[in-house]
Amino acid sequence: MIAAHHTYYTVNNLTAEAALQKLKEGNDRYVLDHVEHPHEGAQRRVDLSIAQHPFAIVLGCADSRVVPELIFDQGVGDLFVLRVAGHIADDAVIASIEFAVEHLGTRLVVVLGHERCGAVMAAIEHAFSEGKLNSLISYIEPAVKAGQEVGGDVVTNTVKAHVNLMVKALQSTDPILSHEGMTGTLKIVPAYYRLATGKVDFLDTI
Ligand SMILES: [Zn+2]
Repeated sequence: MIAAHHTYYTVNNLTAEAALQKLKEGNDRYVLDHVEHPHEGAQRRVDLSIAQHPFAIVLGCADSRVVPELIFDQGVGDLFVLRVAGHIADDAVIASIEFAVEHLGTRLVVVLGHERCGAVMAAIEHAFSEGKLNSLISYIEPAVKAGQEVGGDVVTNTVKAHVNLMVKALQSTDPILSHEGMTGTLKIVPAYYRLATGKVDFLDTI
């Protein structure tokens, strides 16, 4: 029998640190192919029908290989996910993150870049088009210069530089997110996903 027996009017109450730990454990399961596929099915839908309380926000790429719920082994209602090519933080994306922070109480934001990102490669190659791609690429261009200044693989360096710049943009330019960050309860962390192994590297620790 399926019953709506929980009171889910409360917001998420996991701290940023606990949320990050949960993501790391889920990614470990994914890497080892020991996934649990939690929080799926009919009862979960009913439990969440009154309200959602996701414990982490993920800003990731639209790339079909980088699916946050799968790579962190989470289910319905666990993650508040924004996916857009090149994980750019434009106004609509930032507004969506603000919503989850202010109204759902989510305390962790992960900006998730990944190996061989097509949007980042387009920015490096200046692959301009007649359509809207130019405007998307303009968000990545600041990272291209940074990616070329260090040794090693240019695409990898540019993805990591871009992830860090998006984290800084969220931390410093948005009034709601920077205020919440200053209180010490909200954390915005950069991460990098490896396609073949499935491993997420958190680029700094909190
Ligand atoms: Zn990508």
